Amino acid sequence: MDIDYIIVGFGLAGLAFVEELEKKGKTYIIFENESQNSSKVAAGMYNPVVLKRFTPVWNGNEQLKVALAFFKEIEKRHNRTYLYDVPIYRVFKSIEEQNNWFAACDKPKLAAYMSTTLIPNNKKEVLAPFGFGELLHTGRLDVNSLLYNYQKKLILKNKLIKETFNYATLEILETSVRYKNVNARHLVFCEGFGLKDNPFFNYLPMNEAKGELITIHAPSLKVEYLIKAALFVLPLGNDLYKVGATFNWKDKTQKPTEKGREELIKKLEATINTTYKIVDHVAGIRPTVKDRRPLIGIHPKYKQLAILNGLGTRGVMIAPTVAKQLYANIENKVPLHKEIDIKRF
Ligand SMILES: Cc1cc2nc3c(=O)[nH]c(=O)nc-3n(C[C@H](O)[C@H](O)[C@H](O)COP(=O)(O)OP(=O)(O)OC[C@H]3O[C@@H](n4cnc5c(N)ncnc54)[C@H](O)[C@@H]3O)c2cc1C
Repeated sequence: MDIDYIIVGFGLAGLAFVEELEKKGKTYIIFENESQNSSKVAAGMYNPVVLKRFTPVWNGNEQLKVALAFFKEIEKRHNRTYLYDVPIYRVFKSIEEQNNWFAACDKPKLAAYMSTTLIPNNKKEVLAPFGFGELLHTGRLDVNSLLYNYQKKLILKNKLIKETFNYATLEILETSVRYKNVNARHLVFCEGFGLKDNPFFNYLPMNEAKGELITIHAPSLKVEYLIKAALFVLPLGNDLYKVGATFNWKDKTQKPTEKGREELIKKLEATINTTYKIVDHVAGIRPTVKDRRPLIGIHPKYKQLAILNGLGTRGVMIAPTVAKQLYANIENKVPLHKEIDIKRF
């Protein structure tokens, strides 16, 4: 079989690249082995402001525009909703934090996203004596449903194979690659933390961060905004809330842990004051990079091999932009932005 592309991995990175291939009418096959689940467990929030320091996310404004148009187009095609508007209420810890918020509101890159109205807390179930600052134009992508539905369609079209891609079996030919019975012009690796096993690209400095999340059922909480304090409490509907997330740079397993659960409970109980029951607990490894920028580009020696990885903590916003850039780089030699190009390593 002769095709244009082999793709390894179908998380947000793989999906974003496949959309490009579909738009351009390219032929492809995907290998996906469910060894990583960063995209599946992600809270899916998008927000172009760094809430710790009240600073803009790198290229956040541009990325958000591209991402919203990108996911809306898929929603239309699938005739389903994946994007949900969710305002973010940042809990102020002190008067000083309130002042920092209002100072940041004047910055040109932040003004459109940060409300200048101080929101008092009027719910006894939420612990926020200094009130909140509201972020605008923020929301959630239901990543899990999107991946599930997209994958189902690809399997029906024989474009996705549930199988581990075995690196040792790959043959690199002069201007193409051969994998078993498939000849392809290009191979794009989108394996998330699976990168560690990739002999062609595992020289790149991933600084992965495990994250754990719990889902709680809290019938009397009744909030429709995301509460952002030491952690976030994200309403999902039906009195369910996703609560997270932890950051752990040592544990490389995907398993939820007792330690992670305890940390989340402690922070949750400093944020809300109501009864709740934990109904789910998940974990995944974020493919974060030392310099906090994605890993995009073509292999220095084998021009048929490329990578789309390093989406870090913000895969929802960044994946569509970098997938477009990688495609333009491979097909039309459009240079990549220096900050994302793997040539920097
Ligand atoms: C707890 C948590 C919360 C998060 N919350 C958010 C959030 O609110 N907003 C946001 O934007 N981002 C969030 N993220 C980050 C986001 O999930 C990542 O940026 C994004 O999912 C990375 O996507 P990816 O496709 O690169 O990796 P992955 O989702 O890990 O996908 C890689 C895929 O490759 C497959 N694979 C790997 N090796 C092989 C192989 N050899 N053969 C076949 N298949 C293979 C894996 O099975 C996997 O499906 C969160 C992450 C975590 C862990």
